[in-house]
Amino acid sequence: MIPLSRLQGLAKERGTPLFVVDHDELRRSYAEFKKRLPRVQAYYAVKANPDPAIVKTLYEAGASFDVASMPEFMIVHENIQHLPPKERQDWIWDKIIYANPIKAVEALTQLDYYKPLVTYDNLEEIRKIQKYAPHAGLALRLKVPNTGAMVELSSKFGAAPGDAVDLILAAEEAGLAVEGLSFHVGSQTSNFENYVQALNLAAGVFKEAKERGYSKMNLLDIGGGFPVPYDESVKPFHVLAGRINAELDRLFAKDVQILAEPGRFLVATAATSVVKIIGKAVREGKTCYYVNDGVYHTYSGIIFDHCKYHLKPFRKGPTQICSVFGPTCDALDVISMAEDLPTDLELGELLYSEQIGAYSHASSTTFNGFPPAKVAHVNQRPPERAPSRRRREAELVG
Ligand SMILES: *Cc1c(COP(=O)(O)O)cnc(C)c1O
Repeated sequence: MIPLSRLQGLAKERGTPLFVVDHDELRRSYAEFKKRLPRVQAYYAVKANPDPAIVKTLYEAGASFDVASMPEFMIVHENIQHLPPKERQDWIWDKIIYANPIKAVEALTQLDYYKPLVTYDNLEEIRKIQKYAPHAGLALRLKVPNTGAMVELSSKFGAAPGDAVDLILAAEEAGLAVEGLSFHVGSQTSNFENYVQALNLAAGVFKEAKERGYSKMNLLDIGGGFPVPYDESVKPFHVLAGRINAELDRLFAKDVQILAEPGRFLVATAATSVVKIIGKAVREGKTCYYVNDGVYHTYSGIIFDHCKYHLKPFRKGPTQICSVFGPTCDALDVISMAEDLPTDLELGELLYSEQIGAYSHASSTTFNGFPPAKVAHVNQRPPERAPSRRRREAELVG
């Protein structure tokens, strides 16, 4: 957590609304993911927050990337330009998955050059890929239960497990290489059984593919969904990781490459939003604060992501349940109807929300003439390692 005095200082310096990204926290969450799931390569789902500085920090930490459009692909591509060209070519293979099961012909045409890994889940898509991106490698997106996820994703994408091997063989007949499977258990999945069921369904498809003569399955993409501790009801990540590791080892041979596409888990805790009170009224006995950021902007996750955010004051005072509204004229622009806040806050004072890094700034609009919050990056460079004793001694001698 960034110290409150630092947040206030940044708000004073840069103005509000301000979206503060802590790169130490990005590195910490990536390291946590890798430590708990050592067999899994993390492909950061760029849609959670496509800020190039975030992509760069995660890349330097070792992450790969999941993109779903050509603009997202280019954001990632442009942030590895400092690598020598040879390395960049190899990079495409193990550093990017284009994980949108439905791809426009224009996107496929551009993608083919990079020989990317792409997902698919139906026959029409096979025909499109065959025609416009025949050099792509494929992963079949499987439909899996999304029970109890905050954001459900299974009604829009995914082949039924019973159709999976037919779709793998159809792609092979079209001359395409199916390398494995992908799935998504739903975003912010606090029901860990979803992962266990999905892994078992995937193992069933691997087995059936082999039985029907297809032996090129060597990749399993376990998607996103890893939950963030927005509240105490979310069990710790290491509990989930323990179950996933046990199932992976039980169900999949050592040479099957395992990837995941964490979005929320890597960025949610890394950003804090700072807003300013621009209006105040008492309506039916309740204090209402109007702030300069709302659901069309940084708090868009309230609508699109079904996420709740709390607002906190920078100082104490006698509290009551208050409403907090965004700046636009739309009655939908409500951040909260029930925040426990001091009632004596004045115009110009600031409030902040933590854990707002995912699906927030990413879906901000300019509705009603209000621009998105400005972004401040802190701790962008990794902390300097203390020089080793030998080096220090050498310096002393020198
Ligand atoms: C959105 C999305 C993700 C990221 O999901 P999180 O729940 O944020 O981890 C990963 N993969 C795909 C295909 C997605 O659509």
